[in-house]
Amino acid sequence: MTFVPIIESFLKARHYKAVQPLVALIDMDGTLYDSMGNHARAWQRMVQELGIDCSYEEFFMHEGRTGAATIDLIFERVYGRKATSQEHEEYYQRKATYFTQMPPVEVMPGAQAMISTLMEAGVRRVLVTGSGQSSLINRLDADFPGAFPAEMRVTSRDVTKGKPHPEPYMRAMQIARVRPSQCIAIENAPLGVKSAVDAGAFTIAVTTGPIPYEEMEKAGATVIFPSMEDFAQKLPMLLFQLLTTTIE
Ligand code: CA
Repeated sequence: MTFVPIIESFLKARHYKAVQPLVALIDMDGTLYDSMGNHARAWQRMVQELGIDCSYEEFFMHEGRTGAATIDLIFERVYGRKATSQEHEEYYQRKATYFTQMPPVEVMPGAQAMISTLMEAGVRRVLVTGSGQSSLINRLDADFPGAFPAEMRVTSRDVTKGKPHPEPYMRAMQIARVRPSQCIAIENAPLGVKSAVDAGAFTIAVTTGPIPYEEMEKAGATVIFPSMEDFAQKLPMLLFQLLTTTIE
C-alpha cells in the first residue's frame, strides 16, 4: 500500500515541502487505552443523577473536550447557562470517581506495537490529552515504558482551551520545539482530529470506537485507519514514505 498520493496532496494543501516525522503527538483515551466506554458510562451515570436525560453515545462525540467544557455543553442545553467553577469541580470529580469504579481499562490492542515502532525509528513522542484523569496518566510509565517522559505531556492542566481548539497540539509542538511540518498526530476522535489539523499537523485518525469513518473525514483527518492494529502494522511504511516524499 502506498501513502504517497495522500502525502503529496497534504503537502500541496499546506504548502509544506515535506513532512519530517521527528515527533509524534499522541492522544491517550481511545488511542493508547480502550477507555472510552468507561468514560461514557461514568459521564452518563453522573449526568443522569442530576436528573438530566442523556445517551451513552453522545459522550463519544464529546470525546477530547475537557471535563469543564463537557459539563458546560450539558448545562447550556438544559439550563441555558454555563456551569460555575465550583460545579465544574464537583461534577468532574464525581465523574472521575465513577470512572475509577468501572472495570479495569485495557491498553488498546496495537498501541504498544505502534509506540515501539516510533521509539525504534527515533521518533520522539508527546502525549496530548484533554484528560486530567490521573488514574490513566499514572499508568503510562508501566504500560509504555520510557515512551512519555514527564516533560513531554500536555494534559488538561496545561491548556486554557481544550480540543477541538488547536491549543493542545500547538502547545505540544512548542514543548517538542518543532514546526507543524515536523510532526505527525495520532487521534481517535473527531474533535481531537480537528484540533491537530488546525494546528497544522499531518493527522492520522484511527477508528477504535463507534465513531464512523465519515466523521473523521469531516474533521479533516489526513489519513484514516480502521484499527490500531492495522495502523501499527502500516506505520513503518508510512514513516518511510513521509521521509522520502517531497514536493518542489
Ligand atoms: Ca481520544
